[in-house]
Amino acid sequence: MSVIVVGAGPTGLTLAGDLAAAGVPVKILERRAEESNLTRAFAVHARTLEMLDMRGLADGLIAQGIQVPQVRVHLKGAELAFDIRHPDSRFPYVLILRQARTEAALEERARDLGVEIVRGAEVTGLTQDADGVTLALSAGGSERADYVAGCDGAHSAVRRLLGVGFAGKSYDTRILLADVLLKRPLPLAVNPFIGDDGAALLPPYGDGWFRATIWDRTGQHLPIDQPVDIEEVRDSLRRIAGDDLGLAEMSWSTRFLSERRQARAYRVGRVFLAGDAAHVHSPLGAMGMSTGIQDAANLSWKLAAACQGWAPPWLLDSYQSERHPVGRTVLRLTDLLRRLADAPAPVRLLRPYLAPALINNPKISEKARLTLSGLGIHYPVPDGVPASPLTGRRLPDLPIGSGRLYERLRGRYLLIDATTAHETARPWHDRVDVLPTGGPAVYDEATTLLIRPDGYLAWTATHPGPQQTRQALRQWCGQAR
Ligand SMILES: Cc1cc2nc3c(=O)[nH]c(=O)nc-3n(C[C@H](O)[C@H](O)[C@H](O)COP(=O)(O)OP(=O)(O)OC[C@H]3O[C@@H](n4cnc5c(N)ncnc54)[C@H](O)[C@@H]3O)c2cc1C
Repeated sequence: MSVIVVGAGPTGLTLAGDLAAAGVPVKILERRAEESNLTRAFAVHARTLEMLDMRGLADGLIAQGIQVPQVRVHLKGAELAFDIRHPDSRFPYVLILRQARTEAALEERARDLGVEIVRGAEVTGLTQDADGVTLALSAGGSERADYVAGCDGAHSAVRRLLGVGFAGKSYDTRILLADVLLKRPLPLAVNPFIGDDGAALLPPYGDGWFRATIWDRTGQHLPIDQPVDIEEVRDSLRRIAGDDLGLAEMSWSTRFLSERRQARAYRVGRVFLAGDAAHVHSPLGAMGMSTGIQDAANLSWKLAAACQGWAPPWLLDSYQSERHPVGRTVLRLTDLLRRLADAPAPVRLLRPYLAPALINNPKISEKARLTLSGLGIHYPVPDGVPASPLTGRRLPDLPIGSGRLYERLRGRYLLIDATTAHETARPWHDRVDVLPTGGPAVYDEATTLLIRPDGYLAWTATHPGPQQTRQALRQWCGQAR
C-alpha cells in the first residue's frame, strides 16, 4: 500500500520521512519547482524538538540555532520576564532557527529514507473510491495511491477538492514581517515591545539578526501588496519601542493578513489534512510550524499501520479526535495573545497592570508555558481500549540503561517491562520493540509500559497476566500476525 503526500513544507516532509522509515512507499508532490527562500516560521518549541529528537534530528538543528529561555515583555519602559523553561524536558527553551533550516534537515532525512519528491507537480483534482485516491496534476496526467495526505498549506487545494469547510475569520490587522539587523543589544529572549500604536515581537537569530513581527495600527490603510521598506520598519519601531533599536539592515520583508481558521474535518475517507492545510492562526506564539510537525508525527504511524494491514479499527479516526482539539487550543491561545497585543484603547490603559498580574500568576503562567511549548498536550483514551490513568500522557525522555528513551523511540511501539509480559508480546515483534527492564522507566507502581510510536503512553499495568497483556496489545497494536 502506498501514500502520496501533497506539499513539501515541514508537515509533508515529516510525514513522508516517517512513512518511508516505516517501509511504506511514499511520494511527495510539490507545486514549487524551486526551493523557497521565505523565512516564515522562526521558532521550534520544546515538544517539537522532542519529536525531532525521536527522529535523530534535534541535536543537529540545535547546533544551528539559538536557545531562548525567556519572553521579555517591554511595556512602556518596564520589563516583565516570562520564563519558558520547563524542568522535565531535555529542551527547556524555544529554539530560534529559520524555517528553511528545519525544512532542509527534514528534506535530507526524507530523501535519505528514499522518499521521492516530485517538484513542479501541482495537484488540481482529487477523486476517491473504495480502493484508493486519484490526484490530477495541472501539467496533465494523474497519480494514484491508497491514501493521500494534504499538507499543502493554508490555501490547500486538497481541502478545497474535498469540500471541507475552513471555519473562522480573517483578522483585519496587517502584520509586517522583516528580518532585521539591530545594533542595540537586546536580552537573550523573545522580546515583545508593546506600545500605544501596536506591538513588535523581536526574537533573536543569535548573529545580530532578529525576526521582526510588527502590528502597527497606523499602517492599517496601506495596501497589502505594498512593499515594506526599512524606513517603514524604523518608523514603526520608533513609535512602538521608543527608538529604532539600532536598526541597520533589512534582508527580507512582507506585509500580510493573518487568519484564524480550522478545517471542520481532518479526515475524509482515505484523505487526511495536516499542518496549515488543517489550521491557520496569528503568528503570535510562533506555533504554526510546530503544530504541523506534531500533526505529522501523530498521523504517520497510524497511516503506516493502515498500510501494513494491522491498524485497529479506531486508529485512523483517532487522528482527528486527537489533533483537532489541539488545533482548537492553538487557535484560542494565539487569538488571546493577539487581542492582548492589539487591544482597544480601554484595555491598553489596563495593560501595565494586567500583564504583570497574568505573568506572575503561577497557574496561568504554567498553563501558558505548557500550551506554548506543546509539552502539556495529552490525548483522550480511545473508546473500548484498555487504559490506565496515564494513558495519553507524554513521557519525558527517561534514562534507560546506558541511553535515553527517545533514542529508543523510532516509529514503533515500545514495551518497557520488568516482568515476563514482554514474552507474551513476541507475536507482535513486527511492530512492538521490547525493553525487558525495570528501573526508572517504571512509572508509579507500573511494571509494564506500552508506549505509542509518537511517545505518548498507551497502557500501563502492574504485573499483568498474559491474558491482560494480550488484550492490551491486540487493542492498541492490532491482531498479531
Ligand atoms: C508570511 C508567513 C509568515 C509566517 N510566520 C510564522 C512564524 O513567525 N512562526 C510560525 O510558527 N509560523 C509562521 N508561519 C506559518 C508557518 O510557516 C507554517 O505554519 C508552516 O510552514 C506550515 O507548514 P506546512 O508544511 O503545513 O505548510 P507550508 O509550509 O505552507 O507548505 C505547503 C507546501 O505545499 C505546497 N503546495 C501548495 N499547494 C499545492 C498543490 N496544489 N499541489 C502541490 N503542492 C502544493 C506549497 O508549495 C508548499 O511547499 C508563517 C507563514 C507565512 C505565510
